[in-house]
Amino acid sequence: MNGTDHDTIVAPATAPGGALAVVRVSGAEALAVCDRIFRGRGKLADAAAYTLHYGRIVEPAAAGLSPDADAPAERTIDDVLVAVFRAPHSYTGEESAEISCHGSQYIVSELLRLLCRAGARMASPGEFTIRAYLNGKMDLSQAEAVADLIASSSRAAHTLATTQLRGGYSADLEALRERLLELVSLLELELDFSEEEVEFADRTQLRETMEQIDARIEAMRRSFTLGNAIKQGVAVAIVGAPNAGKSTLLNRLLNEERALVSDIAGTTRDVIEELTNIDGVEFRFLDTAGIRTTEDRLERMGIERTLSSIARAQIIIRLLDASQAGDTIPSPDFEVRQEQRLLTVMNKLDRCPGRTLPEGILGLSAKTGEGLDTLRCALRAAVDTQALYHGDTVVSNSRHAEALTEAHDALLQALEGLREGLPTDLLSEEIRQVIGHIGTITGRGQITPDEVLQNIFSKFCIGK
Ligand code: GDP
Repeated sequence: MNGTDHDTIVAPATAPGGALAVVRVSGAEALAVCDRIFRGRGKLADAAAYTLHYGRIVEPAAAGLSPDADAPAERTIDDVLVAVFRAPHSYTGEESAEISCHGSQYIVSELLRLLCRAGARMASPGEFTIRAYLNGKMDLSQAEAVADLIASSSRAAHTLATTQLRGGYSADLEALRERLLELVSLLELELDFSEEEVEFADRTQLRETMEQIDARIEAMRRSFTLGNAIKQGVAVAIVGAPNAGKSTLLNRLLNEERALVSDIAGTTRDVIEELTNIDGVEFRFLDTAGIRTTEDRLERMGIERTLSSIARAQIIIRLLDASQAGDTIPSPDFEVRQEQRLLTVMNKLDRCPGRTLPEGILGLSAKTGEGLDTLRCALRAAVDTQALYHGDTVVSNSRHAEALTEAHDALLQALEGLREGLPTDLLSEEIRQVIGHIGTITGRGQITPDEVLQNIFSKFCIGK
């Protein structure tokens, strides 16, 4: 990828298989390139911004060959509509066109071939968005939100991406950066007057401000647990003795929802994860392959897999069999971390009508479906999406979480320096480090190295 050239780039923006397809063209020459193969009422290069033009895409007669009297000079590929965007008021900030044609793969590939012959080149993944970033149309975190928005498959993930895309998140980070810059300028002002031995920046106030900023950074960093869960799906492990009803319960949860159920190739080859959407949040059931092959349970491997699912889960459903369990429920024989949620569930209640359950234990019958709604509510309630739906900043990108961690560490070091009476110039340098780390999230006020850009944008699909 070359983010700095001025080529006119082209790519399909839609996935194959639809009735229509959209091909995007962007770059200084975008409209002139289109005009070489577009036959409409007038020239697209003369068209006003945000106008739509009907016409034909043609393959111009090959130059240099003597025209065959019978053959048509131009071959029509398709009837199209072209939307014209003029710089800088386009997605990329450049002259752009979006050509809507019929959704045939043949038409799309011919269109791309002709556009390339007319002077464009194929775009690499994310190249439209990298141009939008380089032209100041959006910052890095907003560009990343575009990819998240395209990938979003639940209401919560969609909210997460749109909030970030709209820039509320960037504004929060910018506010932090500005406060830090203020501190630095105060310290540097002090340096200018160092001959007179004055301390402009009141050290107590300085510490308080730094601590407040750190608290904010920490809060954002902590929100990553929620953000990541929402983006990837909240990880749930169902554990219990063989025949407790784990597979039956899983099937109920997946089928009754009639929601998106898909197999994802997990990190380990034979781990299968399944997704279901409960009230706008996606839940990801871990290692369901292990649940299905109950005989595996007896093997060492099965046990290890269960333990690994428990370790990775945000929510653990511990399933007990009502026909086996006595009145005192033993504590789980696995460790539950503080940030994990344990739901103890008594299954097969249909076999023990009238049984009263100890407090805090959910009862259900995976077989009849009774009590399933209560379990679903409990799962959903275990994910606090209040902050998200109130538009608070929720970090969902691991690159941002890492940058916040580095900012936090740098700020702790600066606070330490302050305590130890570090000279003003060094203290100011420490705070500049914090500013640097925060700046990498949005890419504002910061020179973003090429490899970072490459890394971010290579995850995009072509045409975005
Ligand atoms: P797993 O080994 O934990 O995955 O358990 P299964 O889901 O394979 O269930 C074991 C057996 O218990 C099967 O015969 C199920 O039909 C039965 N079972 C599961 N849930 C219930 C329930 O709620 N009530 C009754 N009566 N039987 C159940």
